[in-house]
Amino acid sequence: MTYGERIPIKTRREVELMREAGQHVAEILLELRELAEPGIPTSEFDRVATEAIEKRGLESSFLHYGPGGLPPYPATVCVSVNEEIVHGIPSSRELVEGDILSLDFGTINRGFHGDSAVTIPIGSIDEESQRLLEATRDALYAGVEQMVPGNRLSDIGHAVQTRAEGAGFSVVRQFVGHGVGRILHEPPQIPNYGRPGRGPRLQPGMVFAIEPMVNVGDELVRMLEDEWTAVTADGSRSAHFEHTVLIKDEGPEILTRIAGSH
Ligand code: MG
Ligand code: MG
Repeated sequence: MTYGERIPIKTRREVELMREAGQHVAEILLELRELAEPGIPTSEFDRVATEAIEKRGLESSFLHYGPGGLPPYPATVCVSVNEEIVHGIPSSRELVEGDILSLDFGTINRGFHGDSAVTIPIGSIDEESQRLLEATRDALYAGVEQMVPGNRLSDIGHAVQTRAEGAGFSVVRQFVGHGVGRILHEPPQIPNYGRPGRGPRLQPGMVFAIEPMVNVGDELVRMLEDEWTAVTADGSRSAHFEHTVLIKDEGPEILTRIAGSH
């Protein structure tokens, strides 16, 4: 891949606004997780998320988002169940015991985005799904650990891939992590795979959304007719964990984590 575009460095003031955005995202995601039980329609997460951001005077990062000729995304939160990888659209579908549910949520605080995702079990889930969730979260944190000044950009994806594949799963190639700030998807793109030691050196003030998507089966993706929902081509289950992370002199600060978060 090429690394032509400049990676924005945030000012102290911008970091403060992003820290606030991240706190809001973390708090609202925790609120959403409390709803996650068998029998709940996925539209309920969108209703509660929409109410929460209105109450806090924020804007949605995702509602009406539509790059590259896609239809505008119609909701505030992405809900992806079982074999759905990312960008599932909330609907009347009711969750069932044993499902896994990925919630991806972003909000804008005075012009700056926070972006985070978590996959949660609905009731009790099978052992393989449990391992998938743990491996995906571990892969996220393996990537975050690489966010140290002087490391190279591709060290992040390499660490994510190594952890996920080491657990016997595969990483999705078609979607990537990203810089985040005034724009939801800023440079650079951050693949969840690749060789280490390549790309720009990491610097304090860079803020990235690291977001491994990990499949039980192979990494291939199929798109549904709604043009948004990505599912595994082989129908196997997929998990997604994401945090917005600031690089500081002393290492990474996760802006979307509070007590009780993933
Ligand atoms: Mg996200
Ligand atoms: Mg993201």
